[in-house]
Amino acid sequence: MYSIDEMRRTVERYGVRLTPQRKAILEVLSNFTGIFSVVDLQKTLTRSHPDIGRATLFRAIDLYVRLGVLEKVHRESAEDGYIVGMTGHHHHLICRRCGEVRHIDLCPIQEEVEELVKKEGYSDTIHRFEIEGLCAKCRIGLERQKSKTQGV
Ligand SMILES: [Zn+2]
Ligand SMILES: [Zn+2]
Ligand SMILES: [Zn+2]
Repeated sequence: MYSIDEMRRTVERYGVRLTPQRKAILEVLSNFTGIFSVVDLQKTLTRSHPDIGRATLFRAIDLYVRLGVLEKVHRESAEDGYIVGMTGHHHHLICRRCGEVRHIDLCPIQEEVEELVKKEGYSDTIHRFEIEGLCAKCRIGLERQKSKTQGV
């Protein structure tokens, strides 16, 4: 996951000017460790920067997704959300309970995808897949809860 400095560098590498407002939004973003919604972001931002309007925030989100600083994550169990991005091709493990997201820095399906793409005559493809489940912490927490209610 990008640190605030890496986010800043990435944006500047694309020749995008970091206005004070965009900088403030980046700072707020860097505080999120898991998945978040636009509403979460808006709430946090309003606390520290009530002057930044909705339109500015939405434009910044669009920009950051395009630059890869932010990634949109699809979820089966809840609405789509955002996470702080990472460089390079990777996949995601998402906890459906606490919203933790891990970037998995390897592609277990690379060869199969390449073969399929070639066979179908496609080129310049991108693919993504995300795995949703319970993280170890949540699983242990749930097991504890269960054993408590059962009086064990
Ligand atoms: Zn979890
Ligand atoms: Zn990612
Ligand atoms: Zn892949």
